[in-house]
Amino acid sequence: MTETILKEVQQLRAEIERHNRLYYLDAQPEISDLQYDQLLKRLQQLEQEYPQYDDPSSPSHKVGGEPIAGFVTVPHRLPMLSIDNVYEEAELAEFDTRILKLLDPSESIEYVTEYKIDGVALSLIYEHGVLVQGLTRGDGRQGDDITHNAKTIRGVPLHLTASAEQPIPPYLEVRGEAYISNSDFAHLRAAQLEAGEQPFANPRNATAGALKLLDPKLSAARKIRFFAHSVGYCEGIELPTHMAFLEAVRRLGIPITPEVHAWPTWEATLEQCHRMMEQLHTLNFEVDGLVLKVNSRDQRARMGTTSKSPRWVVAYKWEKYEAQTKVLEISVTVGKSGTLTPLALLQPVEIAGTTVSRCSLHNRDELNRLGVKIGDWVIVEKAGKIIPHMVRVEEHLRTGDETDFVFPAHCPECNTAVIQDEGGVYIRCPNPACPAQLRETLRFYASRSAMDIEGLGIKLIEQLVEHGFLTSLSDVYRLQLRRDELIGLDRLGEKSVDNLLAGIDASRNRPLWRLLTGLNIRHVGRTVSQALANQFGSLDVIIAQTEEQLAEVNEIGTVIAHSVYTFFHTEPVLKLLAELKDFGLNWGEAREATAPPPVVTGPLSGQTIVVTGSLTRFTRDSIKEFILQQGGKPTDSVSKQTNFVVAGEKAGSKLEKAQKLGVRVLTEDEFVHLVDSQSSVAPETT
Ligand SMILES: [Zn+2]
Repeated sequence: MTETILKEVQQLRAEIERHNRLYYLDAQPEISDLQYDQLLKRLQQLEQEYPQYDDPSSPSHKVGGEPIAGFVTVPHRLPMLSIDNVYEEAELAEFDTRILKLLDPSESIEYVTEYKIDGVALSLIYEHGVLVQGLTRGDGRQGDDITHNAKTIRGVPLHLTASAEQPIPPYLEVRGEAYISNSDFAHLRAAQLEAGEQPFANPRNATAGALKLLDPKLSAARKIRFFAHSVGYCEGIELPTHMAFLEAVRRLGIPITPEVHAWPTWEATLEQCHRMMEQLHTLNFEVDGLVLKVNSRDQRARMGTTSKSPRWVVAYKWEKYEAQTKVLEISVTVGKSGTLTPLALLQPVEIAGTTVSRCSLHNRDELNRLGVKIGDWVIVEKAGKIIPHMVRVEEHLRTGDETDFVFPAHCPECNTAVIQDEGGVYIRCPNPACPAQLRETLRFYASRSAMDIEGLGIKLIEQLVEHGFLTSLSDVYRLQLRRDELIGLDRLGEKSVDNLLAGIDASRNRPLWRLLTGLNIRHVGRTVSQALANQFGSLDVIIAQTEEQLAEVNEIGTVIAHSVYTFFHTEPVLKLLAELKDFGLNWGEAREATAPPPVVTGPLSGQTIVVTGSLTRFTRDSIKEFILQQGGKPTDSVSKQTNFVVAGEKAGSKLEKAQKLGVRVLTEDEFVHLVDSQSSVAPETT
């Protein structure tokens, strides 16, 4: 009998831990919160009835043990230093310059980018896989022992999971950020207000307060979570990079900071910074900046620390401003690719010196996540250089007069039934003749970033679409035949019509990349357009390329190649292009070598090769030259099309990617040997 009980207890524990990992590590829960609670209740019940089977590291203990009498201060084995802050991109660039000076000029540097979570810094200590201590940062030298509360943090395992890849180290100190999610915070605040309590100002205050509660059951109720982002004092775990360390921590079962990646160049790092700043609205936790770290632990050790902070890390922060305001209306706009974007019209409110009266709600999923109704009071935030976004609804201020917003099933412009983007979050109007799309398509085509047509602004476009002058892109050039009719239109005098027509005429001679941009091909902006124009010279040559040939252009990967190829093999597009060509638009000049570049045959013929890390026999340029001489094709990024990767010392993310994709990896010696052995084979004779 008791044996079956023990078995059930063990099964329940394993099952609950599995669900914890699915929920907090993989963000892919398999069961509902209710089902999870039932499992936990059953376990607690058994552990109470059969105390002989209770175990301090059972997941049931995460609800909180006995209250403590007071806090004990404990020194950190390694100080928890602060990080240097910068607030401008120029200062961020100085960080890179400083780093470069600290290292040997021949070394390559990888930077890791992370969100800086606006929570409370925490150190978690595991001895032989068991969580034994949780410490606050305190003054950096010593912190408060909050172990009783650390145990209740969601997703923090009471004991680590060993795996073949990652055995349990004897001593592991993981550092990170404790936080409360935005949605949990909204509920917490609503409950406080309902109970007549003074509500917390923000999630960080609520987290800090919760960690300093004496009664862990109260702390558990706040639903604190944790992201690991660094390593403290460790024994028995040595890893060459920060990324490898985070991966090890994740394998052991501790949630790590999300959206963390390593980048091989400063340019790529900066690009990612911009991307992350644009994605802020998708996060369910507060962020007050980005953190950039050198990936290599060896390089870090050589850079060392100043008296205050490590030299290999910097925080790129921004001031955050938020305001409460009311949602007056929610409308939906249709963009140039037919995307329906919900937009909240707000009671105007001043945030950080500017008046905010509208804010994008991005897509239907975001709208659902916020649960916003018309008439709701909401918190709108403006963080640094970022456009305002809606943080949360102040549900406790609802009066019952708010009205639900129903996302339209039909395009608000043309009434066509809308569709959901394949695999995406966007809802689109599929009607290519939709006036909203036409308007947006024309506006973009005529804009400065594309064909730069003087005199053709949005107001005039709206007017011309409305009067049937513009029903397609090529109609722009038909306007030249309708001068007299145009002069009859509202607000259009003879002079402005002539200016417009001159502007349109001039646009026929724009460089090819502008036309390519103006065609609004998915994923094709200015950079890709210029790359295509430079590589192939003329539009006809571009259209004649296969998907594979397109993908071989440096700035273009398989995704963009697919998009370009598909675009140019669509019937309406071909018709449009034929018309535009007839109107005499600049089609570009076919390169003298419409004929393919001379093919060098050699031992590496037909092989696409990526080189990474530092080599002993070659410089970066000389190995590329060498590969070309041997008939191969050197490229910069690893994909499934890569035949092999030559990896030197300190190879980083490209090597990881190659291993992930199963691309063959050669050392420098193996590579040289391969070329030598192939060279001795006599070339085929005809
Ligand atoms: Zn439509």
